[in-house]
Amino acid sequence: MPLPQETICAWIDSQRDRLLTLVTEWARISSHSLDPAGLGRMRARLLEDFAPLGRLAGKTAGRRLVVNATGDEVAEPVGDMLSLAHRAATGPRVLLAIHYDTVYPADPAPQSVSLSDDGLILRGPGVTDAKGGLAVLLLALEAFMLKGDRDRLSWEILLNGDEELGSPGSAAALTAAAGRNDLGLLFEPTLDEAGTLAGSRKGSANLAVIIHGRAAHAGRHFSEGRNAVTAAADLAVAINRLNAEPGEATFNIAAIDGGSAVNVVPDLAIVRLNIRVDTTGSADWALTQVQSLVAALDHRDGLTARLHGGFHCPPKPMDDLTQRLLGHIVACGRSLGLEIASRSTGGVCDGNKLAAAGLPTIDTLGVRGGGIHSPAEYLLVESLVERTKLTACLLAGLADGSLAWPTAHMHCPTPERSVS
Ligand SMILES: [Zn+2]
Repeated sequence: MPLPQETICAWIDSQRDRLLTLVTEWARISSHSLDPAGLGRMRARLLEDFAPLGRLAGKTAGRRLVVNATGDEVAEPVGDMLSLAHRAATGPRVLLAIHYDTVYPADPAPQSVSLSDDGLILRGPGVTDAKGGLAVLLLALEAFMLKGDRDRLSWEILLNGDEELGSPGSAAALTAAAGRNDLGLLFEPTLDEAGTLAGSRKGSANLAVIIHGRAAHAGRHFSEGRNAVTAAADLAVAINRLNAEPGEATFNIAAIDGGSAVNVVPDLAIVRLNIRVDTTGSADWALTQVQSLVAALDHRDGLTARLHGGFHCPPKPMDDLTQRLLGHIVACGRSLGLEIASRSTGGVCDGNKLAAAGLPTIDTLGVRGGGIHSPAEYLLVESLVERTKLTACLLAGLADGSLAWPTAHMHCPTPERSVS
């Protein structure tokens, strides 16, 4: 193992207990995406714990637009972001990002987080998705700043609090940060316990169709009513049929809201659905299909239908630069004794947004574990040190040029060591 990798790894080994303590304490703080108090507590802790790198700055997030149960579009506040940057005169610019919100219900009390008797498994809400990843990001950067060539690599951290909602309030900041950097590292959990990384990802759209009919008494004036619920059912069936088309898209009717008392012809229904696609061509096709079905419904007697939402995550293909970044990570893994595999996935994350903004990004550099988004979430403790070493060695290699990044794709090339 070449220097400085050896000294980096030795330092990270010395931080094993700190890594575990950070994840444990962060997971004790409930931080659901729509819980301003919990997100605020989490940000306060991150400000303290990231202090060795500098002072994180708060960044105001935008709002998210949602269709509520009465069919109205409302704007909701989401958690603010935190950011920090280190700029060197030359070398690649690396964006490191991850979210600090979770899917677990808001709860002001400390959450239950437990370590197995053998010390191998940590259980608790968000330990793997993504508070373990937050710890990996922090300690990998600390290791690099202490032991790596900090004058030959720039970095920027972006921590968001609305990823589990699809990052509606942080998407613009992610896109802007993508434009300022040369490559992106995102610290979502690996795809499985073995540590497989995500290659290409599908694109995802969340849509709501708001259908208004006309209310009437079901007994006295039935024929005057226009039933929004049956119109919603017709639309849901028609959209579901698109799954049989050769459009390489999947359409999931997730919910139909609407109706009230059984003696009222319902005047409001909302169809909520998700679309997944492999390519932007399929995304265009899928959206056009849904739009034309909604337009046809909008013309039916006495009914109106309006489509809300769109592709919040474009598909993330594996282009040449992303492949190169993955190759560097695999090489780092090999030098650490790890065989790192990758595969495509239907899941989406902020990596889709960064890639769509032109930033080559690998997005599963967080910890190994399982049961995410469930009460059984767990983290394999050994992966904390392992994945921290992986990212720290990647940063060190990018800085010293042993892992080359093409100068044509760098904001500030390192002339004497560049490889194109
Ligand atoms: Zn996540």
